[in-house]
Amino acid sequence: SIMKENFPNFKMEEARIMARLSANENPYGPAPAVVKAISQSVALGNRYGHGDAATLIAMIAEKEGVTPEHIMLGPGSSDLLEKTAFVRFKDGGNIVSADPSYMSLINTAKSLGASWKPVKLTTDYAHDLDAMEKAVDSETNLVYVCNPNNPTGSITDPVKLKAFCVKVSAKTPVFVDEAYLEFLDKPENHSMVGLVAEGKDVIVARTFSKVHGMAGLRIGYIVAQPERLKSITSLVRSTMGLCVTSIRGAIASMKEERFLADCRNLNSECRDYVLGEITALGYESIPSSTSFMIFPIKMEGQKFMKGMYDGGVAIRVFNIDDKPWCRVSMGTMSEMELFVQTFKSVTV
Ligand code: PLP
Repeated sequence: SIMKENFPNFKMEEARIMARLSANENPYGPAPAVVKAISQSVALGNRYGHGDAATLIAMIAEKEGVTPEHIMLGPGSSDLLEKTAFVRFKDGGNIVSADPSYMSLINTAKSLGASWKPVKLTTDYAHDLDAMEKAVDSETNLVYVCNPNNPTGSITDPVKLKAFCVKVSAKTPVFVDEAYLEFLDKPENHSMVGLVAEGKDVIVARTFSKVHGMAGLRIGYIVAQPERLKSITSLVRSTMGLCVTSIRGAIASMKEERFLADCRNLNSECRDYVLGEITALGYESIPSSTSFMIFPIKMEGQKFMKGMYDGGVAIRVFNIDDKPWCRVSMGTMSEMELFVQTFKSVTV
């Protein structure tokens, strides 16, 4: 991989973090109505949540324009990325994806003995779809596409991506991770979920961890062909890993249109602010379509990270093409002001 995470060589626990901008968490959520629904559901904890899961699945199916048989829930989308990897790569094969990208599914595939065929992003940080298509061979058991992509925050043209998915899914399943979809201006224009409704062998992953602000509550889903889901659930259970509290929370959150819109708007205000500030300081960020931003820094990665943590700001540092980059998640505006202030004092 051309990307390496720069792990700190200092004790992170010792830093007094005032702005946690390292894990792409939503600083506003969960919505108050979600907190209430969850509190009320705690007393139902003596029962399994299968009935509530069916309610949530029906709501998701309606929203995505598919049947309930096209939906599988999991405790976060991570669980579903991993379960998909277990099923697709238990006998090896290879996985095609962009590099850099989100490594969870790829790492699980590699651990199972699959080989990874990384394809560099284009110069404008989109998926190089032509090169990815060429990389697919008879041993390819899955193609992973993260759109918008993490850690770059960049998007791939939806029309081109759709054509790619149609073509490639005839040979091998295409997994499209849409964790950050809702931060886009017109998410519905970018989602590949319509291809599932059209019968294509595409698996779309979504999560309640990002725009819904429920990362610690652990709930997400995939939308795919019923037979594809059956190939997973014949090996592992789906709703058995879920808490009734998280399910009830997700049901409540799906109705919180206003809250979700506020999160999107506040996120883009923070993004504009940070982009303006770092641009003025002479840094060039990849245009972000997500709740985080990444840009190359001009000092040694460890030294930068230590300075930021000492200043109470948690961020991530990735080495891409042997150069250190700062990935910063959008927090509240006052957290972003602290980020900018600390950044200035660390980089002088
Ligand atoms: N996919 C992408 C692209 C992510 O960035 C993340 C989390 O950061 C996940 C999936 C997993 O999130 P969760 O398991 O909380 O749904």
